[in-house]
Amino acid sequence: MICIAIANQKGGVGKTTTAINLATGLAATGLRVLLVDLDPQGNASTGLGVNQSDRARSSYDLLVGNCALDDAVLATRVPKLDIVPATQDLSGAEIELIEYEQRTHRLERVLSEAQPGRWDICLIDCPPSLGLLTINAMVAAQYLLVPLQCEFFALEGLSQLLQTVERIRGRFNPNLSIMGVALTMYDRRNRLTDQVADDVRACLGDLVFNTVIPRNVRLSEAPSHGVPALIYDFRCSGSEAYMRLARELISRLPKQEAAA
Ligand code: ADP
Ligand code: MG
Repeated sequence: MICIAIANQKGGVGKTTTAINLATGLAATGLRVLLVDLDPQGNASTGLGVNQSDRARSSYDLLVGNCALDDAVLATRVPKLDIVPATQDLSGAEIELIEYEQRTHRLERVLSEAQPGRWDICLIDCPPSLGLLTINAMVAAQYLLVPLQCEFFALEGLSQLLQTVERIRGRFNPNLSIMGVALTMYDRRNRLTDQVADDVRACLGDLVFNTVIPRNVRLSEAPSHGVPALIYDFRCSGSEAYMRLARELISRLPKQEAAA
């Protein structure tokens, strides 16, 4: 199972929107996808229609060892897409885990329990910080996907994120690589976002996905209906962009992994 962490310590840059819709896009290509909600806000869970009452077992329980992976996995209404939901409990995990052995490897260990072949890809929706939860995601993952909002300070904070990646590579997970940076909330009528997109490409080159996610109101409406935009309105510009991003992501995977 290929594991991809979706991370950026800034909030509101499109991590969760990307996690939900990219997971749906990947599932639509026929891959079996597991989405792990690792943000105490639980927005990915809510956005996929998982009620609070159905979150008896969550990513928190997995991290602290309360239950096995299979007990925390729920099917979503999207075919081939399962989720491990998140609850508020997770906000205490950063502190509770300090007491645990191998506290940076908790998620990795849990995901290694996955029945071989049950899922092709796992996406992890990270919280807006570089704390222990995001570190667990980066230790468990082989790839990092960074959503970057097309706004003036887009690149600010990126060097801190890249430093964290280097540290994790050096200390815990030499296999971690950056799969790509996805530009989000792009507005072609706004010259500033155009300028930002050009600057980011000049700075990061091929690391930036060709696919750009437009600012699209359907993407922000869909979560209140508990479905991905790709189901709410599969023809809107946001849905089309996430479908393209899913295909581009698959094309960036090493051939044998994509076929696995
Ligand atoms: P994060 O998980 O990084 O905090 P979210 O994905 O929750 O970011 O996005 C923050 C807000 O912006 C949400 O209200 C979301 O619906 C909205 N949003 C995200 N991406 C887009 C987009 N491409 N177009 C319009 N609204 C978006
Ligand atoms: Mg989020």
